[in-house]
Amino acid sequence: TIVHCPLVATQRRRLSWVQLAGHKGSFKAGDEGSILKKFSENEKLCFERLKEDALHSFVPSYYGVVERDGELFLKMKDLLANFDLPNVMDCKMGVRTYLEEELVRARVKPKLREDLYNKMMEVDSEAPTAEEKQQQAVTKPRYMQWRESLSSTNTLGFRIEGIKVVKRGETCKTDFKKTRSKEDVIQVFKDFVEGNKNIINSYITRLEDIKQALKASEFFKKHEVKNTFFFVLDHKERAEVWLIDFGKTTPLPEEQNLDHYRPWEEGNREDGYLWGLDNLQQTLSLLARE
Ligand code: ATP
Ligand code: MG
Ligand code: MG
Repeated sequence: TIVHCPLVATQRRRLSWVQLAGHKGSFKAGDEGSILKKFSENEKLCFERLKEDALHSFVPSYYGVVERDGELFLKMKDLLANFDLPNVMDCKMGVRTYLEEELVRARVKPKLREDLYNKMMEVDSEAPTAEEKQQQAVTKPRYMQWRESLSSTNTLGFRIEGIKVVKRGETCKTDFKKTRSKEDVIQVFKDFVEGNKNIINSYITRLEDIKQALKASEFFKKHEVKNTFFFVLDHKERAEVWLIDFGKTTPLPEEQNLDHYRPWEEGNREDGYLWGLDNLQQTLSLLARE
């Protein structure tokens, strides 16, 4: 799949902050260079633990819990604040995109989701089983596993979730649900950086720094990590990668550590995060050498 964005003629206005993915309505603009994300206890705890961690300089600065219109939010740095018309990309890390506890919950007490069934049908009407077609619903892990097999999650340990590219002041987003092979992923990155090798090289350097920080991180050792690499660039060749979205990142029991490389078997809670990072680095290196 080659990504030629059909330029959606909207947003001529300069918007510094654009939500790429995720639940609608879970963000608000904050004051001066900050944004507010709908409160979750889990994500708050992660931000607090990350303050003292080796990963600290690779996650958005965290400014605490605030209240707006009777609702609680986590206040954090707007990573796009200093960019001029940035391109942004979300890359979901790991070989598994749901938590083990979600799998267990779905087994013990299956919750049938009609919305996820409809999403599945939109992409491939052959995907649901006869039983699922009859119930017109699927469980969440079933949907997530199907998404994993369709994308590069299973084969590369990361996948492209969404991209916003700005061309002549116009933005476009495309669907990457079926971006699976290494060649496809390379092509998407190439389109994203618009062929700029300096930017690719900045990303390669940044990813190596992130890897070293991950290896030194106590937080990383002690959590099942489900999150996203957030790639940003602008026409001045500013290029950054950040770790965002810790809403689904959960602590392990006291005595357990993850190495983030081993294959996942239910119970070991491994997430293939570092394996995915290796593959991501390798993919960008191939692109740099093209
Ligand atoms: P989901 O769990 O469904 O992925 P979510 O509600 O947990 O979504 P996030 O993934 O944290 O939300 O963020 C949604 C999107 O908003 C991200 O994909 C990214 O494009 C943008 N975003 C998140 N945090 C920041 C930030 N600090 N600065 C700029 N943009 C951000
Ligand atoms: Mg997210
Ligand atoms: Mg989230």
